[in-house]
Amino acid sequence: MHLHDSSIEVLTQAIVRYSIDRVRLDPPPLDGPRTPTELQAMAGRTVTSQGIGGLEALRVFGDVLAPACISVDHPRFLSFVPAAPTEASILFDLVVGASSIYAGSWMEGGGAVFAENEALRWIADLAGFPAGAGGVFVSGGTAGNLSALIAARWKWRHDADGAHDRTRGLIVASRGAHSSVAQAGRAMDADVVLVPADAAGRMHGRELAGALETLAPDDRRRLFAIVATSGTTNAGIVDDLSGAADMCERYNLWLHIDGAYGGAALAAPSVRSLFDGIERADSFIVDPHKWLFAPFDSCALLYRDPHIAKAAHSQQAEYLDVLQDDQWNPSDYAHHLSRRARGLPLWFSLATYGTDAYRSAIETTLEVAHGGADLIRQSEHCELVLEPELSVVVFRRKEWTSEQYHQWSSELLAAQQAFVVPTSWHGETVLRYCVVNPLTTVADLAMIVESLA
Ligand SMILES: *Cc1c(COP(=O)(O)O)cnc(C)c1O
Repeated sequence: MHLHDSSIEVLTQAIVRYSIDRVRLDPPPLDGPRTPTELQAMAGRTVTSQGIGGLEALRVFGDVLAPACISVDHPRFLSFVPAAPTEASILFDLVVGASSIYAGSWMEGGGAVFAENEALRWIADLAGFPAGAGGVFVSGGTAGNLSALIAARWKWRHDADGAHDRTRGLIVASRGAHSSVAQAGRAMDADVVLVPADAAGRMHGRELAGALETLAPDDRRRLFAIVATSGTTNAGIVDDLSGAADMCERYNLWLHIDGAYGGAALAAPSVRSLFDGIERADSFIVDPHKWLFAPFDSCALLYRDPHIAKAAHSQQAEYLDVLQDDQWNPSDYAHHLSRRARGLPLWFSLATYGTDAYRSAIETTLEVAHGGADLIRQSEHCELVLEPELSVVVFRRKEWTSEQYHQWSSELLAAQQAFVVPTSWHGETVLRYCVVNPLTTVADLAMIVESLA
């Protein structure tokens, strides 16, 4: 199976050509989902005792399977949080795969870990984190939030000198917090208390202070972290981070900031002031696979004091004893052990294009998102639900029912024009678009607004 023969040469050519052609598609087809039954009929049996051969498997992928995946990098894929990896980052992902790097320890993957740390340092500097800050790339914001909160709980218990070892912890977060924060609470068997937000979904220091004051004394004792969101997923709203930092200081709590989507905008001078206070966080995440133009899957997780994370996460085992404790082992900083060097595509892309290109690409997406909001303001049939802050715009089609929104959305995808799904806002079905692709234009958004007429 591992022999190198001429058929592998043919396959190599085919795979490289396929990859390059996919990267060059401008734009790729939007494509759309199919049922398992349809795929079964179209793909036939692929896993067989004799194998169907690489060229045939690649044909099935290209003709049947890939078209059953919606292209998240299409400029009119505007649902959820799209992705828009740079050419350099995608191509380098092939190199990472080809290089069989184990990036859990410095001993095995030091060169790759060094480069990942360069990319992490750029992000730490954007956030104003101190020189001693550090972290690791994990699979996504969900893993990043969980790992950060595990570190926070470790510190709380450690500081209590055993008094809280059996106490169920409590986390305070804003109403706009991502579902992964509640999921982290479930995974950790900790409670999550949600603080009321303003009409836009922003958590303010005052409401946070009120929520903390009204906690029962028993609950106050169990509280170990506050999670603030720097860019809510549904509306792109940044919490009052300074207010959250003040409360963490007053009550000696860990401040975790979830910037999985919005943290990228730290690089955009036009909105940087929204993030004031982030430099006081204990931990912070941002997903390069969202708005930093890297391929899946990648979340940058940073700690002000990585020693705490290491104490919380480091695994001990006989076969790991040879790993040197004084070296930077990425496994030590999250809930994982083996890991791909998933920060390398971002590093390579940063090295290729320079950080100025990132700043201007993010500014471009902000301008386009806000240009689209202007179109909505001017339109007769649509109106903004709230003023956009980052690159998410939430708006309504006047007088439409939920069914009309869903039907419009399905038809738009069926016509291969755009992928825009409804969301809900205070119980009302509305529309939302999220721009992270610098190739999305105001004309693309105009087409969508017109199709709602
Ligand atoms: C997307 C998102 C997450 C989850 O990130 P994954 O990479 O999908 O796990 C967490 N928090 C926020 C604010 C997000 O936008």
